[in-house]
Amino acid sequence: MMKEIAYGYWWNCKSCGEENAYGLTEAEADDYNKEWEEDNADAVAEGETGEGACDWWYNVTAEENDAHIEDKEHCWKCNAVAHADTRTDKAKWFDSIVENLK
Ligand SMILES: [Zn+2]
Repeated sequence: MMKEIAYGYWWNCKSCGEENAYGLTEAEADDYNKEWEEDNADAVAEGETGEGACDWWYNVTAEENDAHIEDKEHCWKCNAVAHADTRTDKAKWFDSIVENLK
């Protein structure tokens, strides 16, 4: 079964075409948030939260950074490793914007 993510994005496997989820489930996000807040006491003192950091990374910047490719995620269905061709449209769009700003 595809992972049930609460935070993250989706990408398509090049080998079998199946949709895959990259990110965290609700339970994983809780762990992530606790750890983040323990490791970032300074930021927490300034009002930041683990949830905010989690949301920013998994819902906003991870996709632009091709996180599932960097992490060599495996397709849940056929186990193929995510390679460069599995970049999402949003990541490509983001790159085209950056390219146009040069
Ligand atoms: Zn696959």
